Amino acid sequence: MRAAVFDSTANPASGAWLSVEEIPRPQLAPNQLLLKVIACGVCRTDLHIVERDLKPIQPRIIPGHQIVGEVVEGATVGLPLGTLAGVSWIGGVDGVCWFCRHGMENLCDQPVFTGYSVNGGYAPFAAVRADFAIPLPAGLDPIAAAPLLCAGVIGFRSLRVAGVERGERVGLYGFGSSASLAIRVLHSWDCEVYVVTRGESHRKAATSLGARWVGDENSKPPVALDRAITFAPSGKVVVDALSALRKGGVVAINAIHLDQMPAFDYDRLLWGERQLRSVANMTRQDARDFLALARDLNFRPAVQTFPLDQANRALHAVKHETGEGSAVIVI
Ligand SMILES: [Zn+2]
Ligand SMILES: [Zn+2]
Repeated sequence: MRAAVFDSTANPASGAWLSVEEIPRPQLAPNQLLLKVIACGVCRTDLHIVERDLKPIQPRIIPGHQIVGEVVEGATVGLPLGTLAGVSWIGGVDGVCWFCRHGMENLCDQPVFTGYSVNGGYAPFAAVRADFAIPLPAGLDPIAAAPLLCAGVIGFRSLRVAGVERGERVGLYGFGSSASLAIRVLHSWDCEVYVVTRGESHRKAATSLGARWVGDENSKPPVALDRAITFAPSGKVVVDALSALRKGGVVAINAIHLDQMPAFDYDRLLWGERQLRSVANMTRQDARDFLALARDLNFRPAVQTFPLDQANRALHAVKHETGEGSAVIVI
């Protein structure tokens, strides 16, 4: 099969991170099933992998962790042949560590990361752990569902980590694909949403999706926020979000990688039981709950599609935030 491969030992020209090459079709290990990939969303984490912001685990890897595919081998009772299933960043856990035993599989000590520690979905076939393939609720479009699997689920988990309650005032700092899905969930919970983002197109998108207030990176919401979620890989943005919180409020940082956390004034920004939390990975329950909600709310995120041969172009679109909608590779 032809797959897009990242070789961490090579030193390719800047921007030509992946090479599309002929490789053998994956062999199934016990407890795995084979997905015939229909679409694979392109996530900012994929960019962190190919730009080596995340230390390479494997010398060669097929990226991609927002996989939607059809079960064609290794079917199970819950996932019969022909089922449409999604696989996200968490591709497996050990099930025995302290975190797994305490309902925190997202923090597992021995996790498997799809498209990072094992091959992902920038390919026509992907071998995945059957217990980490989530059936897609009927009615979700398979291509539009791809960006729901990481951007959507992690955005949803961020709202949980921030402890958002119905009707609260919530700040979204950065407005890429994750935030543009989170705002729909927040509106379904009757929350007021305040968006701070650089980039005219992101501010327009936030306005068109019904944000109560939208400002650029130098402005501050006109009210104190109950919760804030930051999506930018920037420590400065985290401090900006903290400075907009009421006492007892929470900032959840939805970023797998931050440039640097600047020093900040404890007395003014964290005192008063304000909390700063990171959002790490996701649980399968987060994915199931979010996909069900996406079906109920009739989510159809805007996507821009790319053929597999243009996987590098898709990564560029994510890097430079060009184009409308989430980048998705369609196989
Ligand atoms: Zn574990
Ligand atoms: Zn992701």
